Amino acid sequence: VFELRNIHKKFKDGTVALKNINIQFKASTFTALIGPSGSGKSTLIRLLNSLETPTEGDILYLGESILNPKYDMIKHRTEVGMVFQSFNLFPNLSVLDNINLAQTNVLKKSKSEATETSLKLLETFGLLEKAYQYPNQLSGGQKQRIAIVRSLAMNPKVMLFDEPTSALDPEMVGEVLSVMKTLKNQHMTIILVTHEMEFARLFADEIVVMDQGEIIEVNEPEVLFSNPKSERTKTFLKRIF
Ligand code: ATP
Ligand code: MG
Repeated sequence: VFELRNIHKKFKDGTVALKNINIQFKASTFTALIGPSGSGKSTLIRLLNSLETPTEGDILYLGESILNPKYDMIKHRTEVGMVFQSFNLFPNLSVLDNINLAQTNVLKKSKSEATETSLKLLETFGLLEKAYQYPNQLSGGQKQRIAIVRSLAMNPKVMLFDEPTSALDPEMVGEVLSVMKTLKNQHMTIILVTHEMEFARLFADEIVVMDQGEIIEVNEPEVLFSNPKSERTKTFLKRIF
């Protein structure tokens, strides 16, 4: 669904965050992006819904350049959902209203249509009893699952996750990973930046390893974790395991 061609990203302060990125993300595929801190993982994933723009190169979504000034970025962001480390729920809105908001504002659904979608999703993920609570009444794991549900309510074709579990207490990581497992089973296209190597090894279809702004290896998890091609991948994995 996504193709990155010769992407370079240099920030205003001169930091080169991405160099020579060429990669495709396939539909119905779960890709995990791993690599050391500062290697450019967040910058890369943020390019995909235009939270950053590249200094050079092109980004195609379903064959169309998202860098074209005429490209419909509002529609793009409904099709490409993103969930971050922090949950960014609106504290003054109930869970249900948080999930309804973009459906009514962006998709122009009626309140009752939106509510129907929201309640169905809450039920799917075991969160129905939280519908009328407020974010400060939820655990971190619950907040993150609500943030994911809110993205899913837009009926996205692709979900981007940037370390969705790294701000959570360890006992809450599992419940968020389990939401991603459900999405994988539904054949959602998923791109996940993660430090959860075991999860990536077990559930990703493809692993992309980054280091110093470059993609140094792309492979299936079985091969990548047992027999990495690149020395830099070996060094990175040695530091973790
Ligand atoms: P982490 O695992 O710590 O989240 P990362 O792989 O996500 O790291 P990025 O956040 O993509 O790394 O950062 C890549 C490089 O770009 C780093 O050197 C970082 O300091 C730099 N960088 C990121 N955002 C900016 C910015 N807005 N301005 C300048 N430099 C930036
Ligand atoms: Mg990051």
